[in-house]
Amino acid sequence: MPPTRQAPTAPPEATLRLPAEFVALLYPVVCLAPLGLAMTRDVAPASLWEVLAAGLGLAGLAAMAVQVVTSGRFELVSGRLGIDRVMAFHKTAAWWVLLALLVHPVAYVIPTYLADPALGLERLIAYHTLPQYRTGVIALSALILLVISSALRNRLPWRYELWRGTHVILALVALFCGLHHAVTAGRFSALGAVHAYWWGIGIVAVAVMAILYGLRWARLHRRPWRLASVTKRADRMWELDIQPAPGTPPLSYRAGQFVWITEGARRFPLFDHPFSIADSPERPGLSLIIKEAGDFTSRIGTLAPGTAIGLDGPFGHFTREDHPADAYLLIAGGVGIAPIMGLLRDLVAQGHDGPVRLAYAAGDPDNFACLDEIAAAGSQFDLQSWLLSEEDAPGWQGDLGRLDRDRLRAMLDGLDPGRTVALICGPGPMVTAVSDTLVDLGMPMKQVIYERFDYSGGASAQDRRMRRRFLGLGAALGLGVAGFAALG
Ligand SMILES: Cc1cc2nc3c(=O)[nH]c(=O)nc-3n(C[C@H](O)[C@H](O)[C@H](O)COP(=O)(O)OP(=O)(O)OC[C@H]3O[C@@H](n4cnc5c(N)ncnc54)[C@H](O)[C@@H]3O)c2cc1C
Repeated sequence: MPPTRQAPTAPPEATLRLPAEFVALLYPVVCLAPLGLAMTRDVAPASLWEVLAAGLGLAGLAAMAVQVVTSGRFELVSGRLGIDRVMAFHKTAAWWVLLALLVHPVAYVIPTYLADPALGLERLIAYHTLPQYRTGVIALSALILLVISSALRNRLPWRYELWRGTHVILALVALFCGLHHAVTAGRFSALGAVHAYWWGIGIVAVAVMAILYGLRWARLHRRPWRLASVTKRADRMWELDIQPAPGTPPLSYRAGQFVWITEGARRFPLFDHPFSIADSPERPGLSLIIKEAGDFTSRIGTLAPGTAIGLDGPFGHFTREDHPADAYLLIAGGVGIAPIMGLLRDLVAQGHDGPVRLAYAAGDPDNFACLDEIAAAGSQFDLQSWLLSEEDAPGWQGDLGRLDRDRLRAMLDGLDPGRTVALICGPGPMVTAVSDTLVDLGMPMKQVIYERFDYSGGASAQDRRMRRRFLGLGAALGLGVAGFAALG
């Protein structure tokens, strides 16, 4: 039986969020639509290979356009899926977009190559050098750079902001040059419904960019927030209290969601960073718990009260409202305590009456934040907590070690795993290990919810299942293209 009891009072939906199943269905529809439209057009007869090549181009270009809205910034698309899944899909789909568009010119010359290899190569070179195909070549080159620079991001000696700016520029070059190539050189796209489809895609892409970098930029300046205070909570960990500036409306969010923030004069969307809200919507303003990790976060502790803060959000589904249950396991690793404190503070504010078990693990006792508050929460509702430090230190009163199988079993003791939801946030390796162990201990996978702050640490069983589903979507596109070639 699905867990249902504790559904907290939710704030009104600030944004429309499409159901996950609908988004999954929409994907092949949008990507294969140009093929369907192409079948309504009368074009000069072509060989199977040529139609296959055209199909790969059409589906690849549409899938490339969809990448723009699977960047995790649209609650409409990612609100019910969660940023983890949307980012994982974005990364996986990039590979089949690249594959389809790499094979696209090659497939055109395969019959010629089979008959006469020298002539086949000559045709392939012509496709890459003739002026009428130039925008296609630019699009493909930008796409190759885009995918490779993303795959190697952690190994490139670039600042994150530089990588992100380059990513956006390469994506725009790839998409708009690709669209130009389709409408000027495409067999099916020169006129009619497919032509109109590409214009529609182009207009949507311009609108998306205008929203992301125009409207949101203006909003970061027109509706600023102000830093009320910065408090040190642990070693290199700070809590920021942020309040709306006069005239800025309060944020309607759910405990556990996150926002993107910028500060001072650098309030431009390209410079923003995601941080979980460590607060309850019942309290005015909001707080963020931030760990120093690099350029942006290292400045956090030095920000002066009164600093203007640009805030975009809320995002995410790491909330009780999205995952109602009888009992909750709240599990934090390191700075993963940020959204967990948001959930905990909300449980206190709402006067929660179901069982909640909290585990908080960190490297050493200096890394723990908000311990007094966690202890106080234990006397306000049915909360049991486990504090786990890998290193010992004088005065440490929690346990030593990691959140292993025995400890997770102890957390579940007395709870019905089928009516319990686990909300886990922390470093990649910890999230992966804890998620797999909880599933092993009998928790249904769909009730083990996590949000990662970094994507290291391999894949959990849940990630692997998700990837198989993604590959199913990729295979559906492949079948669609094959069907188009066979019928065309
Ligand atoms: C959904 C989500 C919620 C998060 N919540 C918190 C939180 O509550 N508290 C906290 O301390 N940290 C949180 N983080 C991590 C935080 O966003 C990064 O630590 C921060 O952006 C690092 O920026 P930097 O310039 O200081 O470090 P850098 O050295 O520039 O980056 C360190 C690493 O952080 C990641 N990163 C950097 N900038 C961004 C960005 N703009 N968008 C996404 N990832 C980025 C990259 O993987 C990068 O390699 C969260 C991350 C995500 C995805």
